Amino acid sequence: MSSIRFPIQRRRTVPVRIGPVTVGGQAPIVIQSMTNTDTADIESTVRQVAELARTGSELVRITVNHESAARAVPVIREALDAQGCSVPLVGDFHFNGHRLLTDYPECAEALAKYRINPGNVGRGEKKDSQFATMIEIACRYDRPVRIGVNWGSLDPDLIVRMMDENARSPEPRDAEQVMREAMVESAISSAERAEQVGLPRDRIILSCKMSGVQDLIAVYRMLADRGDYALHLGLTEAGMGSKGIVASTAALSVLLQEGIGDTIRISLTPAPGEARTREVVVAQEILQTMGMRSFAPMVTACPGCGRTTSDTFQHLAQDIQAYLREQMPEWRTRFPGVETMQVAVMGCVVNGPGESKHANIGISLPGNDERPSAPVYVDGEKVATLKGDGIAEQFKRMVDDYIET
Ligand code: SF4
Repeated sequence: MSSIRFPIQRRRTVPVRIGPVTVGGQAPIVIQSMTNTDTADIESTVRQVAELARTGSELVRITVNHESAARAVPVIREALDAQGCSVPLVGDFHFNGHRLLTDYPECAEALAKYRINPGNVGRGEKKDSQFATMIEIACRYDRPVRIGVNWGSLDPDLIVRMMDENARSPEPRDAEQVMREAMVESAISSAERAEQVGLPRDRIILSCKMSGVQDLIAVYRMLADRGDYALHLGLTEAGMGSKGIVASTAALSVLLQEGIGDTIRISLTPAPGEARTREVVVAQEILQTMGMRSFAPMVTACPGCGRTTSDTFQHLAQDIQAYLREQMPEWRTRFPGVETMQVAVMGCVVNGPGESKHANIGISLPGNDERPSAPVYVDGEKVATLKGDGIAEQFKRMVDDYIET
């Protein structure tokens, strides 16, 4: 049973091809992520890129910050290809990108896209020529470019110029507004310069990342009004744990609902030991819960209350969600459409049967004040009442059977 979907009118953008992946136009919103390994450490980088891709990252960005990183890029590409991982690699360049792309043509060729930050391609006269060098290389290899403006590294010359102009204006805006406008101006003027150098618009993606939710929403609305460039969406430096997830979701969901955004990255700070892949799962869950894409069957679970003093149902909900996600690489090809399936795992019969009827398959576990029996609904009909100690295992087998049949 599918939930009611409200069609979201996507903003019309120029589609950009990145290897086999299309960003923009009416293509599904693409999920991307970034490694946190030293790119020169080939083994670790290959492992992390493959993990991110396996989890569902459709593009993976890697830092290319010095010569040994640039030398490693083609080796990383080759190693990934050898293990059947074809995820496009995006090179993240700052300060010396013009030199690395010029001196290491194998690196330029192995990357499917270049990210250029106009705030740190150089100052003064050098800025224009270094930026142009990178764009010329993108044209030579027919590679798309993301012009990625960041709040933390906004072009200082541009800020000074726009602040001066604002101060002389008869109706000056507040400084924060001028900063937001400067972000947009940096992106648009750089894109126009790239087009002058010869990069077509279907080779350009823009981003203006900020760390404040309201700032990000305001800036992307302005950016969307200024042209039809494909847009990469992300809250930068979103932070750790639930704060990072909540802030990213709050910002991105407003913009996505307005049809703004063609590719997303969730920038989470992983806790020590936490998998980098978390940011990919969060990105998938944002798009899936908004009804924009489906990646894995979703589990509906109640929060539990005084009726569920044991943690059986939390364990079952968690186990089932993890199990469904783990099976997806195989199921995706064997059972097309399985990713849209919904499973309900509820703590008791107060709301359990209702939620179960709305799901493809659902169970209401016995609360602590009820007889130990658990009704199971399949496609809206009650098909069984599970009893005894092995309720969780019996339900997992029923989920498997449902998917198989
Ligand atoms: Fe509590 Fe039952 Fe509602 Fe879950 S479904 S929150 S266990 S009353």
